Amino acid sequence: MSMKMILVPEIVLTDLVPRRAWAIAIDGGKIIAVGPRESLIQEYPDAEIREEPGMLALPGTINAHSHSFQSLMRGLSDDQPFTNWRRILYQFMPQLDEEGVYTAALFAFAEMLRGGITTVCDFFYLHHGGIAHDLAAIQAARDIGIRLVFARTMMDWSVAPSAFRETVDQAVANSQALAAKIQGDPCVTVLPAPHSPHGASGAMIRAGARLAAEWGTPWHIHVAEAPYEGEETRRRYGCGPLAWIASLGALDERIRIVHGVWLEDQEIAALGQVGGGLIHCPGSNLFLGDGIAPLRKYLQAGVTVTLGCDSGAANNRLCLFDEMRLAATLQKGLANDGGALTAADVFQMGTANGEHVTGLRVGRLAPGYFADIVLVNLHDLSLHPSHNLLRNLVYSLNHRAITTVYVHGKVVMRDGQLVQVNERDLASRVAALTTSWEASLPPPSPDDPNSTS
Ligand SMILES: [Zn+2]
Repeated sequence: MSMKMILVPEIVLTDLVPRRAWAIAIDGGKIIAVGPRESLIQEYPDAEIREEPGMLALPGTINAHSHSFQSLMRGLSDDQPFTNWRRILYQFMPQLDEEGVYTAALFAFAEMLRGGITTVCDFFYLHHGGIAHDLAAIQAARDIGIRLVFARTMMDWSVAPSAFRETVDQAVANSQALAAKIQGDPCVTVLPAPHSPHGASGAMIRAGARLAAEWGTPWHIHVAEAPYEGEETRRRYGCGPLAWIASLGALDERIRIVHGVWLEDQEIAALGQVGGGLIHCPGSNLFLGDGIAPLRKYLQAGVTVTLGCDSGAANNRLCLFDEMRLAATLQKGLANDGGALTAADVFQMGTANGEHVTGLRVGRLAPGYFADIVLVNLHDLSLHPSHNLLRNLVYSLNHRAITTVYVHGKVVMRDGQLVQVNERDLASRVAALTTSWEASLPPPSPDDPNSTS
């Protein structure tokens, strides 16, 4: 039985070029050809033809860093210093059972799909010493139809709640068990994610890098989100956090660091030399008051940059077009130069560079890549006038223009409605789960700016 389909929008955006009268041929979950529609229709006469008039097809965006469960905290801990924010996180997140983790993930993934995110790297650490909670988040991705890269966090920091912590041996064994459990699922993969230089010991970081080498995947780690981490590594080891990772022998071509706001120039250069990556989270870094990563230094050093929304309680939006716009406008402002970073630069960070950060064929409309496609309504005013579609997508796109989303060749959102999940039911489930939280907040500390309200 042939599963071939030819998607025929008005315009296909492929490798940054909008092409009229082109189409995309899909077989199962993958793109098999992109080209002029007449020639594709001739080439695949048995394929189902799906017309999408008035639509622009573009690659789905890659959210390279998020924490799905934190979406439940949105609005609860905003406008506070980071340590207060984290205290509230540590109060509520360990209480989530598997059902809670599932609901949170479904909620976060729903919002992402609506904003055109087709792949998310979910940096997940509510393990409770096993993999049942991990599997609950994974089930949510399967049920809603988003592509999930499960960044299984490895954390042995004594300050963190016990629900987050594992020994090195436990973390490795549980990661292996999870990888075995999901093997063969084309839409879910797992990669190791030692939490950070402050949240993971040297042995844990080494174990994460080793697992990634064994699996042939990238590995992710938070590095230098805020100044305190570098202050601590300098005091304890006499060097910055990434230099410390290098001293462990773990600075390899598979490393993808999240944030990287507070690194020395030499650390940035070293990351570029090994072929590593930066997951830039501009919205979160601003929202939590952490600063602005020196993106142009990373690019000059040859570092591959991708973008992350971070969580629904650290941003608080879950849309990668917002991050593209922020990434570009921040660098323009910092450099006093409107040409410092272009729409094309940040669009690549949000799409094609996704391959580097996930190890998957995602982020391009090209043969051999996954059929993860977003359709945008060309009639939407936010895309007019149409002098330059790419710039409009990055700088002026309104989310309401995102109408239809394909993941793995399957429609998961159609005409602005999720196909597999009822959003109203979802909102009720989220409300039921979180309704008592506000009343059980700790009393505000004296330095809390909200304490006077
Ligand atoms: Zn994070």
